[in-house]
Amino acid sequence: MSYLAFAREMIGNLFKPPATSEYPFTPTKVYEADRGKVLNDINNCIFCGMCMRNCPSDAITVDRNARTWKINRFACVQCRECVTNCPKKCLSMDTEYTAPDTKKTEEVLQGPPPPPKPQVVLTEAQKAAIAAAQAKKAAAAKAAAESKANA
Ligand code: SF4
Ligand code: SF4
Repeated sequence: MSYLAFAREMIGNLFKPPATSEYPFTPTKVYEADRGKVLNDINNCIFCGMCMRNCPSDAITVDRNARTWKINRFACVQCRECVTNCPKKCLSMDTEYTAPDTKKTEEVLQGPPPPPKPQVVLTEAQKAAIAAAQAKKAAAAKAAAESKANA
């Protein structure tokens, strides 16, 4: 580069705005498709485990019995597979910059207790049918035992 071209470039740059932003003093622009950390609306989670099975880095652990959803944020590669495969659409990715941490911890979300099972109310006819079926079964078992004893 000749001195003339260099001088022209240098003087031109003096009057241009900086090419970089002064983060964190100037917030970075956030786009809708940005991938931040995975969030779970745990109240809508059904603990089906689809997110866990589709995670390529084994970052998610779902315990259906304990109703817990756990994520190891250090293992997450922010691929969005879990969000795409969640049948309840309770997973999402925020668009914020994920802050660094000093400790490798897992984040555990505890789901609410399961809804009570609906009570089955039998009619008198259904109760009688069940009692008759049980009596028939007991009689058949008794007859089988007697025929075995006489053989
Ligand atoms: S896929 Fe969705 S509903 Fe199923 S366990 Fe994961 S977060 Fe919950
Ligand atoms: S974004 Fe990808 S790596 Fe991270 S938890 Fe979801 S599936 Fe796993």
